[in-house]
Amino acid sequence: MLKPVSSSRASFVKSLYSRSIKYHREALSCILEYRSAAHNQFPPRKGIWSKFYEEARGKYIHKKLSKHLLERQKSLCCYCRDRIFHGKNSNIEHILPIKHYPMFAFDYNNLALACVTCNALKSDNDFYRVKNLSGNYKANLFDCLHPIFHTYDEHVDFLKLQTNHIYVRVFRFRSSLGERLCSEHLKQVSLFNIKEQANPTVAEAVKKLGEHLDGKPGYESAASTLKRLAANI
Ligand SMILES: [Zn+2]
Repeated sequence: MLKPVSSSRASFVKSLYSRSIKYHREALSCILEYRSAAHNQFPPRKGIWSKFYEEARGKYIHKKLSKHLLERQKSLCCYCRDRIFHGKNSNIEHILPIKHYPMFAFDYNNLALACVTCNALKSDNDFYRVKNLSGNYKANLFDCLHPIFHTYDEHVDFLKLQTNHIYVRVFRFRSSLGERLCSEHLKQVSLFNIKEQANPTVAEAVKKLGEHLDGKPGYESAASTLKRLAANI
């Protein structure tokens, strides 16, 4: 069970900011407390991360952790390698999502920083589908590229192309682990970028083509299809 939040929260928060040995002790005990709750507290464990984040000490640790992960990942998204900035365009990512694996919500190896696009696209999707986890979080259980356990460059290559008007990213796998990440997630990232940025350009081109064909004998059907298409891109 979670311990109730300290009644002397103000003095507790003060100790967190004092950067003394006490701060480290309190921060550690906070993480251990939540980690233990995540492992042992049976339904409901839902919302445990939000509860942690809402606590003053949890919020502080969250901020510190975010900075630490940013350095660990050299300011690159754990999945797509896009550039991320502290507190700007990234979120702490639960590699095994809390929805399916609440017991690993506070496991160091299950935490990474993902760009907002990856974080939103992945959401609660469980593309790892790990079996026989039973409390042990080990590298050999993952057959899809894991941001902490595997070396990205050995499994995925990517190419970015940016001009004044477009931003395209293409991912190519180098291994079966990389292939799983590409098919489960990175393919969606590429499509998202194309749809997001190509929409106004493509829609405008389709609309113009529709207008050009409008009223021309034999092109009635094509013109109306193009108009409908432009409205729905
Ligand atoms: Zn990303």
